Amino acid sequence: MDNLKITLKNKQRTLDKDSSQLWKECLKLIKKDVPNITYNTWFLPIKPYELDGKTLKIQVPNNFFVEWIEEHYNTLINKIIYQILGKDGKLVYVINDDSDEDPTLFDDPIVEPQTKSSKTSPIENTVESNLSPRYQFDNFIQGESNQLARAAAIAISDNPGETSFNPLFIYGGVGLGKTHLIQAIGNNILTKYPNKKIIYLSADIFTTQFVEAIQTNKINEFSAIYNNIDVLIIDDIQFLTGREKTQDLFFHIFNNLHQARKQIILSSDRPPKDLKGMSDRLISRFQWGLSADVQAPDFETRIAILKRKANSFGILLSNEIIDFIAYNITSNIRELEGCLIKLLANSSLSGKEIDFELARKTVKEISTKREANISIDTITRMVCEHFNVDENKVREKNRKKEVVLARQIAMYLSKRLTKNSLKTIGLHFGGRDHSTVIHSFNNIEKLTKEDVSLNEIVSGLVNKLELGI
Ligand code: ADP
Ligand code: MG
Repeated sequence: MDNLKITLKNKQRTLDKDSSQLWKECLKLIKKDVPNITYNTWFLPIKPYELDGKTLKIQVPNNFFVEWIEEHYNTLINKIIYQILGKDGKLVYVINDDSDEDPTLFDDPIVEPQTKSSKTSPIENTVESNLSPRYQFDNFIQGESNQLARAAAIAISDNPGETSFNPLFIYGGVGLGKTHLIQAIGNNILTKYPNKKIIYLSADIFTTQFVEAIQTNKINEFSAIYNNIDVLIIDDIQFLTGREKTQDLFFHIFNNLHQARKQIILSSDRPPKDLKGMSDRLISRFQWGLSADVQAPDFETRIAILKRKANSFGILLSNEIIDFIAYNITSNIRELEGCLIKLLANSSLSGKEIDFELARKTVKEISTKREANISIDTITRMVCEHFNVDENKVREKNRKKEVVLARQIAMYLSKRLTKNSLKTIGLHFGGRDHSTVIHSFNNIEKLTKEDVSLNEIVSGLVNKLELGI
């Protein structure tokens, strides 16, 4: 399905009945799947624009909405459009450009027509790369913290498979730009060599596909896809730890590709030698090429990133505000971005300009959210609100399906986001013991890897709890 965005200068138009009706139905389904606050902030302001055959055009307030929705709710939207408009259904965003803002402010590559989730046909021999066009070298700010990784990434994309950086192994903490960098390599290679077959995917999706291939007896087809590509990019390879069968298969794919001088690019949250539960032979192969780390950005880099992002979101911030944010938010780039998003959300909700006061309030909210011990009660309340189930039922031994899911998610989030012991967590949910909590945790972890929309719900809840957005 292609979701694309067009910017129109003309203002509101008379609505046709079909688009209003369809959008209403979409909203109904969306509302079921996202937290209320998300629904109110991001979906309610959207207006139906027109229905053109099977293409539903919707009007969004600005570019930023499109980016946000695409990034966080693409799968959900695609699913809903499919449900409502069928297989050929398409969604097009129309930017309500009635401001006099200079459109060139949006300098990030915006949503291009994307082909998502269509099955690859072996006859066409086209490989769907899964790369997102928003990750480019152009919009990756360099700094001391990412110098080596970036330089190696650029070298590789000039000569994939031909440098000694094979594999390129990029590691570092969350939100420091690993996914951005490795996808930028893929995008850059595709621009230079449009015929190269590239696949990007995360190691957990690789694992899920592998399990599916086993279940459907399609291991050969599965391996064939990966053995026949020019560039393999696997994100978060640490997900393979402890999964011996997947590691075995990946080992063979790695060897085949490496021997054929195909480029392999991996990211991980830690260096190869620290990957406990990864086979020694894989660890040693990960070290064959170049390992480069990305670190937390220094002050100057944070400023450059903030300026760049603010610009691409189409907001103007004074240097005072930029300095203030850069000074206070230091841990990672995702959090810097989160701060801008929250600022924009705050100002678009209240209709107020972004001034120093609002910036201070927002930074404070983010820092206290980060430091505050998110409580089990808050988590329970939010989860129940989302799933529309009674909090008491979650705290009792009720076994209804939706109650069980809400309870397991609440336990999962309690373990992940609070420092409470398993025992304490169990006590909050009907006096269950610690093994039940572990079971719930593992189960939700597994389900979120398999089920993209559940994953979106859970990350939505994490965002809401941690960032208040
Ligand atoms: P990781 O994969 O390491 O957890 P991501 O690549 O997802 O981190 O980065 C988090 C966010 O920060 C993304 O939106 C990404 O585009 C942005 N980002 C990270 N590093 C940079 C950078 N150096 N310049 C610009 N944006 C960056
Ligand atoms: Mg990542």
